Amino acid sequence: MYVYIMHKKNIIYFIFMMMFFVFLNSCEKDIPINFCSFQDDSVKVDSLKINNKVLIIGIDGFRSDALTQEITPFIYEFSQRNVYLNLSHLTEEDTYSGPNWSSILTGVHYNKHNVTDNSFDGSLFEMFPTFFNYIENNVNSINTSSIVNWVPINKKILSRDVDYNTESQISDSLVFIEALNLLLNDDPIKPDILFLHFDELDAAGHNFGFSPNIIEYVETLNNIDLYVDSLVSIIDNKRLFGENWMCILVSDHGGDGYSHGDYNNIKIRETVFIAEHPSQNFKLQHKSNMTDIAPTVLDFLGVSSSKFDCSRDGQSILE
Ligand SMILES: [Zn+2]
Repeated sequence: MYVYIMHKKNIIYFIFMMMFFVFLNSCEKDIPINFCSFQDDSVKVDSLKINNKVLIIGIDGFRSDALTQEITPFIYEFSQRNVYLNLSHLTEEDTYSGPNWSSILTGVHYNKHNVTDNSFDGSLFEMFPTFFNYIENNVNSINTSSIVNWVPINKKILSRDVDYNTESQISDSLVFIEALNLLLNDDPIKPDILFLHFDELDAAGHNFGFSPNIIEYVETLNNIDLYVDSLVSIIDNKRLFGENWMCILVSDHGGDGYSHGDYNNIKIRETVFIAEHPSQNFKLQHKSNMTDIAPTVLDFLGVSSSKFDCSRDGQSILE
């Protein structure tokens, strides 16, 4: 009888523990992902860094093995400067454009910002704001701007967070011209943080194939290389006048065949990320992913938020 009771107790104990673990696991899933404890949501601004400036050049669908001296002579030379360079920069598991640009801009993975496709339905940017939002809400002096070919980036993510943004779909050449107008003529504002997005490489990939062996893909990338050359030359000139700029070049995914939907394909899930600055030390051993760009920008500007630090998934690549 005694043995039987113990046995029964053991079974009850076992069942109880199983239920407890199930409860724990289900709890984990039910806890809002943004749940993290931070002291307050105040933001500290480093007065020594806040005048720093950032140019972010987004190139949609840039396959890493297309970054060559022949196809992209300027970007190749640029990648030999004092840079953080990762040609195995990891996409989100969801390799659409929407989730990846969202992760680049928010510093959190797609399970948090909740953008799982290009519709942006269900996005949680109020819970997980973009780095522009942290800047604009806390530093009045900074002028921010976003010029994009693929207009959902502005319409769905950035329009509320930047001082100036384009509101309709424009070609890559118009993105370039708008950028020149901002950087050279301060028209309509003098940008301190400028985000650009070129989309025609992705379109060439979808129409003709994502490959360094496809002429249309190569010619489009070669043309974007000329834009990047001109833009970085302008930044180099501004540096001569004492402005402290960091340049970032990043893509949202690679591609293979006519698409970029398969995370298991290395040509798709690995893409390009370069951060360049004349004298900055970078964490060269770090293997970057999409969520590292936002913390890197905020770190460079000396903007530190306990809310952001609590919820971010990425890390700054600056030493
Ligand atoms: Zn894309």
